[in-house]
Amino acid sequence: MQVLVLNAGSSSLKYQLIDTNTGEVLTRGLVERIGTDVPDHTAALHQAMTTLPETARVEAVGHRVVHGGERFSAPTRITDAVLTDLDRLSTLAPLHNPPALQGIRAARALLPAVPMVAVFDTAFHSTLPPHAYTYAIPYDLYSEHGLRRYGFHGTSHAFVAREAAHVLGQDLRDLKLVTLHLGNGASAAAVQGGVSVDTSMGFTPLEGLVMGTRSGDIDPAIALWLAAKHGPARASDILNRESGLLGLSGVSNDLRDLHRAALAGADRAQLTLQVMVYRLRKQVGAYAAAMNGLDALVFTGGIGENDPWVRAQVVNGLSFLGFHLDEECNERRGQTTRITLAGEMPAALVIPTDEEGEIARQTATTLLA
Ligand code: ADP
Repeated sequence: MQVLVLNAGSSSLKYQLIDTNTGEVLTRGLVERIGTDVPDHTAALHQAMTTLPETARVEAVGHRVVHGGERFSAPTRITDAVLTDLDRLSTLAPLHNPPALQGIRAARALLPAVPMVAVFDTAFHSTLPPHAYTYAIPYDLYSEHGLRRYGFHGTSHAFVAREAAHVLGQDLRDLKLVTLHLGNGASAAAVQGGVSVDTSMGFTPLEGLVMGTRSGDIDPAIALWLAAKHGPARASDILNRESGLLGLSGVSNDLRDLHRAALAGADRAQLTLQVMVYRLRKQVGAYAAAMNGLDALVFTGGIGENDPWVRAQVVNGLSFLGFHLDEECNERRGQTTRITLAGEMPAALVIPTDEEGEIARQTATTLLA
């Protein structure tokens, strides 16, 4: 089946046309500056469609949707009723869901006869037990307003967990894994017996690890302090767009720039790197405790796949769990590799993620079911 995978952001549209029978990516592209140079998502999709090969037959569309709430725990065929439910969810995820909805509406207008599926970043984490998803705040805030941990990057965590079992030659159901998706956004997941049992992002993608521009975990009183001083909208911008690697270093949200600055002697870039890897180590340790064991640690995302320094800091800093880094393997970039000594457990693995491929496969599976 030829599946067009759409990942609509507020000002960009990423797309790939994937043949799910062969796994081949037939076209991929990115339309940027929606809202400025490109008027809207419909125009962006129109532009994307013109880049598809003449032989393309779009048989299905898979939409990445960030937040599925408690309503959507699996990929779901899009109908009018589903769209209404998705609209309601925008109150839970006002920063993240509206662009996806614009993408869905644009696609339905341009390709009215093509079946479409929504694939949710939250779905893989719908297996979290209540003790992992409940915050210690008045219970009504959960039961009436849905304030709980949902978790994100689920498509990626699910994909690399499955791949890890392949690489290790073991049944996923027998494994305790920690998967680290480290891109511009970053999250960790504890995957036990093939299901997500905890994850570091929460009610929104702001919680957890240090990210490119998001703060990750902080004392919530800091958010209150910022909101009192600057108002809630500005406070949100500071924590979501001006914090993390960028805000702390004052240099960049790109780790490559931080390494350069740190090598050139910039103290704050060095501190930023230390804060980031310290938090990563604590997170992995916490999940090893949560699962009472750890068989493998998986690195993925732009940083996880390409940054040997971060991997070495995390793995060497967790030697008490039994990790022994294979320095030579750790120097490889962007490919599936075991970076701990062969045959030893626990293992640390690098597995390039494939969110678009996974969305295409899930779309096909949902429609063929
Ligand atoms: P997104 O979360 O936007 O999908 P990616 O997973 O592509 O992002 O990760 C992007 C980040 O990965 C960059 O901001 C940069 O910090 C990091 N990165 C990419 N390539 C490298 C590299 N070769 N070495 C170190 N870090 C890298």
